[in-house]
Amino acid sequence: MNDLLKQNQDMALAIELCQMGLRPGFVQEAIPSFKSQMLVGLYRKVQGKTPVKGNMPARDAKFLYSEHTTHRLCLHGSVLACSMERLLEHHFDDALVLKYAYEDYLHQIAKGEALINCNRAWTMVRALRAKKLELVPCSYCQARYVDGYRMRRNSCPICYQLKKRRSDFLNRPTETRNALFLPGKK
Ligand SMILES: [Zn+2]
Repeated sequence: MNDLLKQNQDMALAIELCQMGLRPGFVQEAIPSFKSQMLVGLYRKVQGKTPVKGNMPARDAKFLYSEHTTHRLCLHGSVLACSMERLLEHHFDDALVLKYAYEDYLHQIAKGEALINCNRAWTMVRALRAKKLELVPCSYCQARYVDGYRMRRNSCPICYQLKKRRSDFLNRPTETRNALFLPGKK
């Protein structure tokens, strides 16, 4: 009976992961009891299309550490990683960590653009589990954030942007600065 219950739970989870767009190869990593051919068929039924072929995203969440990593992406990665880390601490399986953290991420960005798709999010779960992705405290606001090597500026993406805006403002000529505070008076 317990086996049957577990099978049903795994199937429901596999359907949800396919709905989120997780590629069959990663669904199989998340739920190893399923055969890959079956998952390709399930994905096709759920999504109404054949899964994308080609390279899978790098498994070490390198997209958060590359020279192309923007501060917005770092911010999104930090939101996701914080949820994932909390769930991992509570001993959730990786598949459930992905499901709950990704749902939470989409909820938090509301109607904003998701910069991280669930396949990349899966690589983050694995990298956090393997301790290859770390969250460090911001030296200004103490919020924890993903510290890509290009981002080592001792501050989280939000504090970095605030500091940058402040210095951009202070670097403007005095007349331009005053004009910002005295609209109508030139
Ligand atoms: Zn900060």
